[in-house]
Amino acid sequence: MAFRIFNTLTRKVEEFVPRTSNVVTMYTCGPTVYRDAHIGNFRSYLMADWIRRVFEREGYAVQHIKNITDVGHMRQEVLERGEDKVIAAAISEGKTPMEIAKAYTETFFQDEAKLNIRPAHEFPRATEHVEEMIELTRSLLARGHAYQAGGNIYFSVSSFPRYGELSGNIGAELQVGVRVEVDPLKRDARDFTLWKEAEAGRMLKWDSPWGEGFPGWHIECSAMSMKYLGKQIDIHTGGVDNIFPHHEGEIAQSQGATGLDFVRYWVHGQHLLADGVKMAKSAANNYTLRDLEARDFEPLAFRYLCLTARFNTRLNFTFAALRAAQRGLTRLRDRVWEWSLGPREKLEPTQEMDACRSAFWGRVNDNLDMPGALAQAWRTAHLPLPPSSRLQLLLEFDEVLGLGLSDVLARYRLPSEADITLQGRAALREKRRYSNADSIRQQLHTEGYVVRDTHGGTRARPMTGQERRAEAWQEVSSSHEVPSLIDHPDAVDVSFVLLACNYQEDVQRCIQSALRWTDTSSVEVVVVDNGSTDGTSRWLEDLAQADPRVRVVHTDHILGDAAAKNIGLKQSLGRIVILLDTSAEVTGDLHTPLLQTLRDSRVGMAGPFGLVTTDLRHFDEVANSTEVDAMQAYCFAFRRADLAIVGWMPESFRFYRNLDIQFSFQFKASGFKILADRSLPVHRHEHRQWSELAEEEREKLSHDNFRRFLKRWEHRKDLLVVNQA
Ligand code: AMP
Ligand code: ZN
Repeated sequence: MAFRIFNTLTRKVEEFVPRTSNVVTMYTCGPTVYRDAHIGNFRSYLMADWIRRVFEREGYAVQHIKNITDVGHMRQEVLERGEDKVIAAAISEGKTPMEIAKAYTETFFQDEAKLNIRPAHEFPRATEHVEEMIELTRSLLARGHAYQAGGNIYFSVSSFPRYGELSGNIGAELQVGVRVEVDPLKRDARDFTLWKEAEAGRMLKWDSPWGEGFPGWHIECSAMSMKYLGKQIDIHTGGVDNIFPHHEGEIAQSQGATGLDFVRYWVHGQHLLADGVKMAKSAANNYTLRDLEARDFEPLAFRYLCLTARFNTRLNFTFAALRAAQRGLTRLRDRVWEWSLGPREKLEPTQEMDACRSAFWGRVNDNLDMPGALAQAWRTAHLPLPPSSRLQLLLEFDEVLGLGLSDVLARYRLPSEADITLQGRAALREKRRYSNADSIRQQLHTEGYVVRDTHGGTRARPMTGQERRAEAWQEVSSSHEVPSLIDHPDAVDVSFVLLACNYQEDVQRCIQSALRWTDTSSVEVVVVDNGSTDGTSRWLEDLAQADPRVRVVHTDHILGDAAAKNIGLKQSLGRIVILLDTSAEVTGDLHTPLLQTLRDSRVGMAGPFGLVTTDLRHFDEVANSTEVDAMQAYCFAFRRADLAIVGWMPESFRFYRNLDIQFSFQFKASGFKILADRSLPVHRHEHRQWSELAEEEREKLSHDNFRRFLKRWEHRKDLLVVNQA
């Protein structure tokens, strides 16, 4: 059965037929190397890898090109505003643009290798092909598809009537989309830049017939695909965001210059979302492979995860899903391991094996249905076929799946000490000394090995990172997984609640200061370890072992601030809760005065750093002890029982800022007063969550939360201290 794939150009699933019978020419839009590629980018490259593996498996000679965009334009729009991300990154890291690009290119290659992505045959760099881009621009000028304005060359969209065929962005609609743009040199708002004049002081620039400048973004792919693959190519891949304007631009340039159809099959991968939203630095969810590795996941678990969704549907990345994928991968390897160690039967081709094959390839060939193919692989693994037949089939399937199943024996090889221990254990079992054998099993387990007694004898393999981690502590993925103890009676006077996310010294300072002044009273510290990846988790775990007053809940990634705080609140058992920020240090007896203040049932909330406002827009910190409108997140206290009245923190607040005023207003709306007392012993240190963010991001995040706050409370000026009689 022939391979069929959805072609964005024709909007149909089509049989794949290359131009030349046994050769496939393939072009994949590659990474922009001023930053790490995130796992969403790798989803696109994995899709291309599966397609390429299908071709290679079918015996085609594949020529695969993946470009490296190392001249600064990430997006044409950005370029046209004259910004250059490679240059900006270089300046901020104190390096030259070429050094930046080189370092990120290296990391990209390593990441692809970890994901078993077969390397392209060439990775042409944009900066090494400026000659070709100039040449192409020249022929577009000669053929009347481009024009010069000042030192810039633009592609003239009206000269190419087929513009818009790929994306469906045509005529009037398109005009609306680009109306914001104001480049007075353009004849038509739809026109895009092929060559741009260098601004004064620019580092990356080249000589050209039109003066010093640099190329547009789309032109690199047209020029490089032509150089390496010829004027016409079989298949071109990218993510859906590439369809417009990038690929539309490529078609216009290539077909404009050659007069020939450029690409037969355009294949676009849908996006990877993270926690249900677009990946973005400010949402702390644009994970890199290193982020996954820091949480003890294998890169190949991510490959497995991507196999579980069709390339043309969006895939929502969560750590819970990744954990399931890691388990699936480990289970599949365990089966292969078992069969590899078993006796070798003579292989005879059977009808059943052929049926498995055609079911598997049927799925792959049906518009790259990798979830279906993976399910077929699992079905095969469970069939009552001889182990060596199943092994043979799975290894065949893995030529496309790419999960590295043929490396299992090497991966599972034991270091010699463990092997000797294991053999000793087998000997004990033979002598029926089962309890000795059991304690050796326990010992191997603690040393990080999984031990199995199978028909073929005793086996052991190293635990995966996730298995080791699961041994050490439990992790939660959301606040819903954490039970609420709100109906439980008070067990202590005070619960200190805080979130920890790396910055171990701050966490340590905060917890120790809270405990220092509370020797005699009954307190507990509830720490929500919110996705730390440095040594903080370990340190907290050790502290909790050593000090019964400390309890820790670990999350498997960084949860939103409100969600993480709710976990702490749910787990508290104190009569009052004192919420501390890790930038705060307790410098004296804090809980006695707070317990005292909160004895007054009219007071709902108390703390050192109060705010007042007259318009709900500007908040000022007060310097004395007085009633206020809100309490700042560094430190505030309330009665745990009142959570039943005021409610939890709204989890739409992912960023901490303005969540404190929101929560304060929940108290005010329930009729409680908020009291500030500047004499409470709390010292504020550098606030890392704030200082580690770029200006632009903190403004945006603060603003988003502020809008949420305002929407809910704008009409409640009656609650303000100034408006009370
Ligand atoms: P860039 O480095 O931004 O040019 O992107 C490299 C490749 O990753 C392009 O093919 C994009 O279409 C693709 N891509 C970008 N974001 C995502 C995402 N969230 N999920 C899947 N692919 C993406
Ligand atoms: Zn491209």
